[in-house]
Parts: sequence; structure tokens; C-alpha cells
Amino acid sequence: MIYADNAATTRMSRAAIDAMLACMEDNWGNPSSLYGAGQRANEALQDARERIAACIGASPKELTFTSSGSEADNQALISAARLGERRGRRHILSTAFEHHAVLHTLKKLEREGFEVELLLVGEKGTVTAQQVAAAIREDTCLVTAMYANNEVGSVLPVGEIGAVCRARGVLFHTDAVQAAGHLPIQVEKQNIDLLSLSAHKFHGPKGAGALYARQGVPLVNVIEGGAQERGKRAGTENVPAIVGMAAALEEACAHMEENAEKVSALRDRLIAGLSRIPHCGLNGDPVNRLPGNVNFCFEGVEGESLLLLLDDRGICASSGSACTSGSLDPSHVLLAIGRPHEVAHGSLRLSLCAENTEEDVDAILRAVPEVVAYLRDMSPLWKDKISGKRAFVL
Ligand SMILES: *Cc1c(COP(=O)(O)O)cnc(C)c1O
Repeated sequence: MIYADNAATTRMSRAAIDAMLACMEDNWGNPSSLYGAGQRANEALQDARERIAACIGASPKELTFTSSGSEADNQALISAARLGERRGRRHILSTAFEHHAVLHTLKKLEREGFEVELLLVGEKGTVTAQQVAAAIREDTCLVTAMYANNEVGSVLPVGEIGAVCRARGVLFHTDAVQAAGHLPIQVEKQNIDLLSLSAHKFHGPKGAGALYARQGVPLVNVIEGGAQERGKRAGTENVPAIVGMAAALEEACAHMEENAEKVSALRDRLIAGLSRIPHCGLNGDPVNRLPGNVNFCFEGVEGESLLLLLDDRGICASSGSACTSGSLDPSHVLLAIGRPHEVAHGSLRLSLCAENTEEDVDAILRAVPEVVAYLRDMSPLWKDKISGKRAFVL
């Protein structure tokens, strides 16, 4: 099997599995309990907190553990909104291609009376600090812009956006789920007030995330109950998963440069090879791009059929097309970067990691052109284009 869907989830690293197994076997106490077994679990938790904080330039007490990246996003936005409300500010700025964990939370806030403005991301899928500066108002309480996009891989200038927000006294949240462990994060230097990350996107376990909130930025509970996480997130902490998250992030950060170099070389070979397929288009920014992200639209092809045929050949990939995402509309991200519906339906995302090899890339480069040609041969739409009855888009 060739696994090229690392933006969806990653395989756990040996270090993360070992750390978790040891924790589950030897350190299963409740970290809130006062006796030794509990205190040992609490020490493991605090150790993980220190190590994760160190990876992003934060202080341990600025980190709250959550059940996922989605939960961290929800809590960040709701907290910033409540603070804004108290100050009479109800305007929130974001981008049109955020993850649904952000967009759907913004919808909820909109129903409560907040005014949400989504900045256009353009063809390359990015927003500039100038765009943010021009859109900030007196009543803006929050800017939330992702660090790197999970579908098209574009990397946003979060440091510059952070500087604009800080200068204007507006809270800045970034969904760094695709960036953590892959791109450098320094919350102080980048003027980030709130940041979300998720373990399973950097070879840690599923069901573990963290929310960084700069000292002095008050969090609101989205899960009510006990006083865990200094009263900011109820529920007994998932100690093994958090320990696994720390091991995975530490390892990813220790090898970040070499991994990025290796993976981006594979990515560029894949992009160069797939670009030779007629009537295709690379999605996202060719330069400011996650090391592992490849995303193309192929005209006259349906994304889901493409995925099924690639699966037959042992290749795991993903698409922003209709059926895979369970909705009739193609990906909001592809529409946001200006791809017409028809073309957005024929998208393919391949997301690589350091475990992928040159051989994987060769096999993908053999399979995709064949599968695309096969599907086009069967497509009435494609026949119309070839005969000139319909125009090509790409
Ligand atoms: C995966 C992902 C999330 C959600 O993280 P979960 O831990 O799966 O809830 C949020 N934002 C981005 C950009 C992601 O890629």
C-alpha cells in the first residue's frame, strides 16, 4: 500500500506508540488523584505539557489539552467571541477556506449576532497581512486565519498577520493543525494569541489536541464539569494520548528541516510529473506550500472514481469531490480559490510524509495518468470537449 493521505491522518510514530504503551501499562492513574499513582500520571501530563510548549515557544501553563484540533478551534473562537462581547466588539475576520471546525463555529457565532467577514483567498489560496489590516474595524474582536490549508497546502504569512493584529489590539487565532510538526512555530515571535494543534496530523494518536492561549487571554469552557486543565477544560485527561502527542511532536520538530527537504523534493517531482497530464491544473500556491501537499484538478474526471481506481492499485489519496465529502457541493476550498464546480469535482489530493519513497512517487506517476485517461475515455463530457462541442476550462 502507498499511503499518500497524510493530511487526513498520519501513521503513529514508533516513539509515540512506545510512549503510549508504557504510559498505559505503568501510569494509568487519574492525574487529579492525590496518591502516588495519580501524581505520577500528573507528572507525565506536566512533562508532556512542557515538551509540547517548548516545541512552539510557549510556556507550559499557556497550553490546554483538548480531545482534538476541532475542539481546540471551537474553544479558541468561542473564548475570543465572549471576550469581544464583553467589550462591545462583535466583528470577526476570517478566511473563506478555513477548516469546517472554524467555519461552522463562526456560523454558530453569527446566529448569536456576531458579524463574520471572510476574506477572499485568491487563486493561490492565501490572504495577506495588508488584506487583514484593511479589514480590521474598531469593533473587530478576533482574526482567525489558518497557518496552512489542509486541502491545497498554501501557507499563510501568519507572523505578518499576527503583527498587524497585535498592533491593532485584536486577538489573533491560527488553526495550525497542518503546520505543527511540519513548519516552524514560535508563538511569541509570530504574535499569535491562540493556536490549535492536533496530534494525529504529526504521527501522534487520534483524539488528542492542544490549545495555546497566550497568558492573559481568558478561555471559556466548552466542556463543563470538573476542574481539570486548571478549570479550562473538564474531563479526565487522556494521559496516554497526550504523552504520545508530546513524543510525536518532539520527534517531528527535531527532524523538521531534513523531513521538509526530503518531502518537498518528492512533492516537486510529483507535481512536475502530474503537470504533464493534459488539461490539468495545480491547486494552491506553487511556492508557499506545505512540504507534503500535492493537489490537482483534472478536467473531465470525477474525483471519487479517480480515488476508487487508485485504491484498486493500492494508492490511498483524497479528493475534494462531492461524494467523498458526503455533500453535493465540491470542496469549499476549491471553490474559494476560484475553481468552477465542474473542475472542482475532478480534484486529487496527495499528501506525503517522510516515510514516502521515490518508488511511491514513481508508482503514483505511473498510475494517475493511466487512470485519468481511462476515466476520460468513458466520459461523455470529455467527448464533447474533444469534439469541440464544449470548451475546455483548464
Ligand atoms: C484535521 C484538521 C482539523 C481537525 O483536527 P481533528 O483533531 O481531526 O479534529 C482542523 N483543522 C485543520 C486544518 C485540519 O487539517
